[in-house]
Amino acid sequence: MATTQLAVIGWPVDHSRSPAMHNAALAAVGLSAWEFQLLPVEPENLVACVEGLRNGAYRGVSVTIPHKENVLALVDRLTERASAIGAVNTLIFEPGGELVGDNTDAPGFIASLPSTPAPGSTAIVLGAGGVAHAVVWALRNCGVEVRIWNRTSSRAEQLAERFGATAVENVGPAEILVNCTAAGLEGDPFASLPLGPEQLGEYGVVADVVYNGSAPGDLLDGARAAGAATADGIEMLVQQGAIQFEEWTGRPAPIDVMRAAALAG
Ligand code: NDP
Repeated sequence: MATTQLAVIGWPVDHSRSPAMHNAALAAVGLSAWEFQLLPVEPENLVACVEGLRNGAYRGVSVTIPHKENVLALVDRLTERASAIGAVNTLIFEPGGELVGDNTDAPGFIASLPSTPAPGSTAIVLGAGGVAHAVVWALRNCGVEVRIWNRTSSRAEQLAERFGATAVENVGPAEILVNCTAAGLEGDPFASLPLGPEQLGEYGVVADVVYNGSAPGDLLDGARAAGAATADGIEMLVQQGAIQFEEWTGRPAPIDVMRAAALAG
């Protein structure tokens, strides 16, 4: 029996938790003729790689840094959310040959929160990079009023204008606070963010989408100590992966298995 292939493409991609997460899920639902591979793809090889993946063996590909924007032009069709966000993190090779680009980061982020934000609720988003685009779009799609702070303020202004949010120089209280910056990767996240740990109690929910940092717990530890509910980046990874899995296989995702594999990674 021919193997059905899934993969993650990125550069660098060695530390991706997607192969462990998806291979555990495939095994758990009994798809023994499917496998999920790690495919390091340098930027200059992206076009040839995606063309090569249209060989009938591949059913789906997870797309990560730095390819999420460049892959937009290489698909036959974009889902509405991928088109609106301007980034693709999921490729679906349809049986008829059509290549579809989707973005599961956005719904994955919302699913990682303790509950879906109510229309009219308020959020502060820290950051204006790739993941912030998906997060701001997702929150705006729920009807949330979003304020965006970014180290480089012009990028916050551009992102705010694009999605109907407001760029701010200072952050105040809100129902949700989301860190989409890499600030914590270089040590103390508060050293370069516009708020201190004593302000974390001003938010009902604190989410940190970054999970691969040296001190990823600082923001969320502080938030928990201040009485806020929290959402971490691993849960977002798992939730966006669960949506991918269902799109590729048509099976309900074994989310507990995927979470355990992602946490073990
Ligand atoms: P980008 O490079 O596109 O954006 C990085 C952002 O971080 C920018 O807003 C940048 O600000 C800011 N930043 C970087 N360093 C600092 C600092 N020292 N102080 C303050 N701000 C800083 O990256 P992405 O948006 O693609 O990814 C960000 C993180 O999110 C990564 O760690 C990634 O792993 C994680 N991620 C998690 C996902 C999940 O499923 N949980 C999904 C996707 C990403 P400036 O504009 O000023 O440079």
